[in-house]
Amino acid sequence: MYKKILVPIDLTHQEKGKAMIGVASQVKDAGGDIILATVVPDIPPYVVSDLPAGFFDNQLTDALSELKAIANAAGIGGRVIARSGHPANTIMAIAEEEECDLIIIASHRPGLQDYFLGSTAARVVRHAKCSVLVTR
Ligand code: ADP
Repeated sequence: MYKKILVPIDLTHQEKGKAMIGVASQVKDAGGDIILATVVPDIPPYVVSDLPAGFFDNQLTDALSELKAIANAAGIGGRVIARSGHPANTIMAIAEEEECDLIIIASHRPGLQDYFLGSTAARVVRHAKCSVLVTR
Protein backbone atom coordinates (compact mmCIF):
# COMPACT_ATOMS: atom_id res chain seq x y z
CA MET A 1 0.00 0.00 0.00
CA TYR A 2 2.85 2.40 0.78
CA LYS A 3 6.24 2.84 -0.83
CA LYS A 4 8.20 4.77 1.78
CA ILE A 5 7.19 4.67 5.42
CA LEU A 6 8.64 6.80 8.18
CA VAL A 7 8.55 5.29 11.70
CA PRO A 8 9.55 7.90 14.30
CA ILE A 9 10.82 6.35 17.51
CA ASP A 10 11.19 8.13 20.84
CA LEU A 11 14.29 6.40 22.22
CA THR A 12 13.36 7.31 25.79
CA HIS A 13 10.11 5.32 25.39
CA GLN A 14 10.84 2.79 22.68
CA GLU A 15 8.58 -0.05 23.89
CA LYS A 16 6.09 0.63 21.10
CA GLY A 17 8.75 0.70 18.39
CA LYS A 18 8.57 -3.01 17.63
CA ALA A 19 4.79 -2.92 17.11
CA MET A 20 5.09 0.15 14.88
CA ILE A 21 7.73 -1.55 12.73
CA GLY A 22 5.49 -4.65 12.54
CA VAL A 23 2.63 -2.54 11.19
CA ALA A 24 4.99 -0.83 8.75
CA SER A 25 6.10 -4.22 7.41
CA GLN A 26 2.46 -5.21 6.86
CA VAL A 27 1.35 -2.10 4.95
CA LYS A 28 4.57 -1.67 2.96
CA ASP A 29 4.58 -2.46 -0.76
CA ALA A 30 6.90 -5.22 -1.94
CA GLY A 31 10.19 -3.41 -2.55
CA GLY A 32 9.10 -0.46 -0.40
CA ASP A 33 11.26 1.16 2.29
CA ILE A 34 10.95 1.68 6.04
CA ILE A 35 12.93 4.57 7.55
CA LEU A 36 13.42 4.71 11.33
CA ALA A 37 13.99 8.21 12.69
CA THR A 38 14.53 9.76 16.08
CA VAL A 39 14.72 13.39 17.13
CA VAL A 40 17.00 14.51 19.95
CA PRO A 41 15.01 17.44 21.36
CA ASP A 42 16.67 20.87 21.29
CA ILE A 43 18.06 22.10 24.59
CA PRO A 44 17.60 25.77 25.56
CA PRO A 45 20.70 27.93 24.82
CA TYR A 46 21.30 28.74 28.51
CA VAL A 47 21.71 25.01 29.23
CA VAL A 48 23.81 24.34 26.11
CA SER A 49 26.58 26.63 27.36
CA ASP A 50 27.06 24.35 30.41
CA LEU A 51 27.36 21.15 28.37
CA PRO A 52 30.70 19.54 27.45
CA ALA A 53 31.99 20.08 23.90
CA GLY A 54 30.67 17.47 21.49
CA PHE A 55 27.64 16.66 23.67
CA PHE A 56 25.16 16.92 20.79
CA ASP A 57 27.32 15.02 18.31
CA ASN A 58 27.68 12.20 20.83
CA GLN A 59 23.94 12.13 21.46
CA LEU A 60 23.23 11.86 17.73
CA THR A 61 25.86 9.13 17.25
CA ASP A 62 24.44 7.15 20.18
CA ALA A 63 20.90 7.61 18.87
CA LEU A 64 21.92 6.31 15.43
CA SER A 65 23.47 3.19 16.99
CA GLU A 66 20.32 2.56 19.02
CA LEU A 67 18.14 2.90 15.93
CA LYS A 68 20.38 0.53 13.97
CA ALA A 69 20.10 -2.04 16.79
CA ILE A 70 16.29 -1.69 16.72
CA ALA A 71 16.25 -2.13 12.91
CA ASN A 72 18.50 -5.21 13.12
CA ALA A 73 16.45 -6.76 15.92
CA ALA A 74 13.30 -6.24 13.83
CA GLY A 75 14.97 -7.75 10.77
CA ILE A 76 14.51 -4.70 8.55
CA GLY A 77 17.39 -3.33 6.57
CA GLY A 78 16.00 0.18 6.17
CA ARG A 79 17.74 3.51 6.70
CA VAL A 80 18.01 5.21 10.07
CA ILE A 81 18.06 8.96 10.72
CA ALA A 82 18.88 10.83 13.95
CA ARG A 83 18.50 14.59 14.02
CA SER A 84 18.20 17.31 16.63
CA GLY A 85 15.29 19.73 16.69
CA HIS A 86 11.64 20.04 17.66
CA PRO A 87 10.28 16.46 17.59
CA ALA A 88 7.01 16.93 15.65
CA ASN A 89 8.35 19.52 13.20
CA THR A 90 11.50 17.51 12.54
CA ILE A 91 9.52 14.29 11.98
CA MET A 92 7.39 16.11 9.38
CA ALA A 93 10.45 17.72 7.75
CA ILE A 94 12.13 14.31 7.37
CA ALA A 95 8.92 12.84 5.91
CA GLU A 96 8.82 15.61 3.29
CA GLU A 97 12.53 15.48 2.44
CA GLU A 98 12.41 11.71 2.06
CA GLU A 99 9.09 11.89 0.16
CA CYS A 100 7.47 9.39 2.52
CA ASP A 101 3.88 8.47 1.73
CA LEU A 102 3.08 7.30 5.29
CA ILE A 103 4.16 8.13 8.84
CA ILE A 104 3.41 5.50 11.51
CA ILE A 105 3.37 7.02 14.98
CA ALA A 106 2.41 5.72 18.43
CA SER A 107 -0.53 7.47 20.09
CA HIS A 108 1.29 8.33 23.31
CA ARG A 109 3.84 7.20 25.86
CA PRO A 110 3.32 3.58 27.03
CA GLY A 111 1.30 3.49 30.23
CA LEU A 112 -0.51 6.79 29.70
CA GLN A 113 -3.79 5.09 28.81
CA ASP A 114 -5.91 8.14 29.58
CA TYR A 115 -4.31 10.24 26.88
CA PHE A 116 -5.96 10.05 23.49
CA LEU A 117 -2.93 11.46 21.69
CA GLY A 118 0.41 12.71 22.97
CA SER A 119 1.53 16.18 21.93
CA THR A 120 3.97 15.02 19.24
CA ALA A 121 1.54 12.53 17.76
CA ALA A 122 -1.28 15.10 17.77
CA ARG A 123 0.82 17.70 15.95
CA VAL A 124 1.95 15.20 13.32
CA VAL A 125 -1.63 13.96 12.75
CA ARG A 126 -2.83 17.54 12.32
CA HIS A 127 -0.08 18.97 10.14
CA ALA A 128 1.67 16.19 8.18
CA LYS A 129 1.32 16.41 4.40
CA CYS A 130 1.23 12.63 3.95
CA SER A 131 -1.00 9.96 5.50
CA VAL A 132 -0.48 9.18 9.18
CA LEU A 133 -1.29 5.86 10.87
CA VAL A 134 -1.58 6.02 14.67
CA THR A 135 -0.83 2.79 16.59
CA ARG A 136 -2.16 2.15 20.09
P1 ADP B 1 3.72 11.48 24.93
O1 ADP B 1 3.49 12.97 25.11
O2 ADP B 1 2.76 10.59 25.67
O3 ADP B 1 5.19 11.08 25.12
P2 ADP B 1 4.19 11.75 22.15
O4 ADP B 1 3.18 12.31 21.22
O5 ADP B 1 5.37 12.59 22.53
O6 ADP B 1 3.42 11.20 23.40
O7 ADP B 1 4.84 10.43 21.53
C1 ADP B 1 4.08 9.56 20.73
C2 ADP B 1 4.95 9.03 19.61
O8 ADP B 1 5.50 10.14 18.88
C3 ADP B 1 6.19 8.22 20.00
O9 ADP B 1 5.91 6.86 20.31
C4 ADP B 1 6.99 8.32 18.70
O10 ADP B 1 6.40 7.52 17.68
C5 ADP B 1 6.77 9.78 18.38
N1 ADP B 1 7.80 10.63 19.02
C6 ADP B 1 7.67 11.41 20.13
N2 ADP B 1 8.83 12.02 20.42
C7 ADP B 1 9.72 11.62 19.49
C8 ADP B 1 11.12 11.88 19.22
N3 ADP B 1 11.83 12.70 20.00
N4 ADP B 1 11.70 11.30 18.15
C9 ADP B 1 10.99 10.48 17.34
N5 ADP B 1 9.69 10.18 17.53
C10 ADP B 1 9.07 10.74 18.58
